[in-house]
Amino acid sequence: MTPFFIRQSLVRTALSGISILLIAGCGALPNAQAQEAPQNEVGSEVAIDTPAHADVMVPGGATLDLGSGEAPAQEAGPVAPAALAQASLPALPALPLVAVPSVLTVPQTEGPYFKAGSPQRTSLLEPGMEGTRLILQGRVLTATGAPVANAKVDFWQTDNAGAYDNSGYRLRGYVLTDAKGVYVMETILPGLYPGRTRHIHVKVQAPGGPVLTSQLYVPEEAGNSRDGIYNPALLMRVQERIAQRVVATFDFAVRA
Ligand code: FE
Repeated sequence: MTPFFIRQSLVRTALSGISILLIAGCGALPNAQAQEAPQNEVGSEVAIDTPAHADVMVPGGATLDLGSGEAPAQEAGPVAPAALAQASLPALPALPLVAVPSVLTVPQTEGPYFKAGSPQRTSLLEPGMEGTRLILQGRVLTATGAPVANAKVDFWQTDNAGAYDNSGYRLRGYVLTDAKGVYVMETILPGLYPGRTRHIHVKVQAPGGPVLTSQLYVPEEAGNSRDGIYNPALLMRVQERIAQRVVATFDFAVRA
């Protein structure tokens, strides 16, 4: 039988160890966030909301830990169809600090391939799909930087070969933002088709608000400078480019 004072000492030692672990764990997050310096080009930054420090409830129920560390960066490359189909959503890098937009997100042409009635889903990946996995995350905000909950963010894009599905809803779908205005969509980098650079079409709508129709672009694409519709204000910000996947972010500012 262990004497009482020894048992108490053991308990105190265990508790202090837990405290050290908790302090160390909390300290890692601000550092990680500091590395993700806010760079929103449309407004000033404010530290009013840091959802990256908490788990994010993905519309649909799954919870993502956005604060975890990541593997060393490598070049992204095409993913084998089997790997793409089996991939599960990983821990994502922290979102940058919220920036107060000074302008609304730039609208762009809808193009000829929008289809109403796309399904709600957090991933557009399907078995057999080829391409480089893209996880796009961000927020829907008002012009004053307030998060918009339950905003509809509806994406449509080409497959890896540059083709739209005009008979079904392949690579078409929408997510709803959570209480902090955060959305996450898993898809692939869109392919190229004649006359356009790589782009993802999107419609964003706050509850009861007007629909913003626009397009998002991929940084460092050779075709960007040759595309007459391309606008650098609509570039996704690549947060990570790791083997087999790209994680990017884009915050929308819309009329609510
Ligand atoms: Fe298009």
